[in-house]
Amino acid sequence: MRAITLHPGRAGSLRLDDIAEAPAEGLLKVQALAVGVCGTDRELIDGDYGEAPPGRARLVLGHESLGRVLEAPPGSGFAEGDRVVGIVRHPDPVPCASCALGEWDMCRNGLYTERGIKQADGFCAERWTTPAGFAVKVGPALGLAAVLLEPASILAKAWDHIESIAARAAGRPRRALVTGAGPVGLLAALMGVQRGLEVHVFDRNHEGPKPRLVAALGAAHHTAFPRIEFDVAVECTGAPQVIAQAVAASAPGGIVCLTGLGGSKRDAAFDIAALNQAMVLENRVVFGSVNANLRHYQAAAEALAAAERAWLEGLLTRKVPLERWREAYEKRPGDVKTVLVFEDAWR
Ligand code: BGC
Repeated sequence: MRAITLHPGRAGSLRLDDIAEAPAEGLLKVQALAVGVCGTDRELIDGDYGEAPPGRARLVLGHESLGRVLEAPPGSGFAEGDRVVGIVRHPDPVPCASCALGEWDMCRNGLYTERGIKQADGFCAERWTTPAGFAVKVGPALGLAAVLLEPASILAKAWDHIESIAARAAGRPRRALVTGAGPVGLLAALMGVQRGLEVHVFDRNHEGPKPRLVAALGAAHHTAFPRIEFDVAVECTGAPQVIAQAVAASAPGGIVCLTGLGGSKRDAAFDIAALNQAMVLENRVVFGSVNANLRHYQAAAEALAAAERAWLEGLLTRKVPLERWREAYEKRPGDVKTVLVFEDAWR
């Protein structure tokens, strides 16, 4: 079957391959419908990130999946025809304390695997398998927008942890800043609005769909860093300078959640003594958040179901059929989320 593979660590090794199908016994066998492309895929393609499965040179790419169940083991809770999304991270067979409790997103020993990223094949194959416990059912009402479930799960976790931290004090956060209006930033803004916060999005794009998508949420779009204090910031660029600005803009008691990876390689000067003074004297929190567990995928499914489908579809700015797969990995002006379409069930 056709699959998109690469040799991790080797730039330019991406290709459309013909690979053998994995045995599906005891697992869900899934027909791929679509796979979303994200910055992590680009880092893998550039040879900066990722690991092949043990004993192999190549890895099947893709971690933002959407598929249709072809075969489900009896008692698995899934049936032929169900739409599903595969969970990215799997715990090590000898899990750490967090993985053992189903919190693989909080893995402490780093021995987890991630589909399409670290030591486990991804979802960019015509058919893929998964243990039933690592699949999430999505309603057909979302259509192709269900491919946003995995990126949405990252923000569902970020907001879950922001809320846990906020619960330390009586005052509730009122105003949120989101930095970056890519898919992650837009989904962060959606969930902030869904929580009743006043949301401001900082993004350098004046044009294209991003300012429009922010406005459609009822959030404010800023192309210059807003000079307002924020109770919560969700940083989605990974750019050192923007991180420094987001931290500096937090209100006393403010919470800054860092979600961006591999942004600009440029350094930003940072006064650690001043940061310490501000964090201690005004109870600020800066924390990082990665990945998501089953609970977050479920919360993300609820957030997507509560969003307007037309708005979610507005994020899917390019749909590329498998035959033209190379185009899916190009960066084009106006791109928000590019989706590689394996089977066009939406025609
Ligand atoms: C994925 C996460 C993953 C992270 C680090 C992100 O792009 O969405 O699931 O944990 O990369 O590998």
